[in-house]
Amino acid sequence: MKLFLHICCAIDEYVTLKAIENKKLEIKTYFYNPNIFPYEEYIKRYRDVDFLNKEFNLKKIESTYDKNLFIENAKEFYRQEENSSRCEKCIRLRLENTAEKALENNYYSFSTTLMASPKKIYEKISSIGNEVSKKYKIKFFSENYKKIFPQSLARNQMSGKIYIQNYCGCLYGLINQNLRSIEKDKKDLKNLYERFFPFKDLWKFRGKSLIYSDYLPPHLTNLKQLLGIVKPGKLIIDEYNSRKLELYSKWLKCPGYNCRVEIRR
Ligand code: SF4
Repeated sequence: MKLFLHICCAIDEYVTLKAIENKKLEIKTYFYNPNIFPYEEYIKRYRDVDFLNKEFNLKKIESTYDKNLFIENAKEFYRQEENSSRCEKCIRLRLENTAEKALENNYYSFSTTLMASPKKIYEKISSIGNEVSKKYKIKFFSENYKKIFPQSLARNQMSGKIYIQNYCGCLYGLINQNLRSIEKDKKDLKNLYERFFPFKDLWKFRGKSLIYSDYLPPHLTNLKQLLGIVKPGKLIIDEYNSRKLELYSKWLKCPGYNCRVEIRR
C-alpha cells in the first residue's frame, strides 16, 4: 500500500517508522508544520527529519513554512492549554493540507506521526484524521504507534543522534512549557533546601553533567532522591563507584525523573 505520511518531528517519525516497519508500505514523507516557532526551531526539526528520511531511504515532498496561516488559525485560542481547541485546529490544518497534497501526488492513503507524540491524545488525532478522510475522500491510516513502539525506547536508541525537542512546537506551547518549567524549578529548589540543605550547591548542575564524588550520598536510595530533585543532564560515575552502588544501566530511575548515567572506565 502507498502511504503519504505527515511528519511533525524526527523522534515521532522514528517511533512511527519502527511501529510500521513490518507492513510493506511504500511511504512518502511530508513535513508540513506552519505551527512551529521560531523559524530556527523549524529548521532544526526539518534537518533531522531529513536525516531520518535518508536513514530509512524514504522519499519526501517539500512543503512551505506558512507561519501566518497558523497564527491566523489559532489566535483566538492562544490562552488555552495543550490538547484544547487550539490544538484541534492546528492538527486539522496540518492534516487537511496533508490530505490535499497526498491526492495531488496520487496517494490515496495518509497518516501522521502526531499519533506517536507523547503529549498528544491518540483518539483525538485519529478522530480528526477520520473527519479529514471523509471530507477529502482519502483513507486515513490510523494506529497507536507509540503503543507499538514506545517513545522511551525510541529516545534511548536515538538520544544524541537526532534533535529531541521539549515542547510541542508553537509559541503558545513554548510559553506554557516555560511557565511550567519555572514552576517546577521553584518547587524543586524549595525541596532541595528543605530536604538536602548540605547539597544545595548541586543546583548549579541542573540540566548539566554531574560527576559522582564522595561528596554525594553514599546510599543509592538517597542519591536517587537527590538526583530526582536536582535533575542533572547526566550523572558521570567511575567504574569503582558504579559497582559499589550496583549501578550498571544507562538510566537511573529516580522519583519523577530518569537520570542518564555514563560509566567511565
Ligand atoms: S501545542 Fe502543539 S498541537 Fe497545540 S497548537 Fe501548539 S503546536 Fe499545535
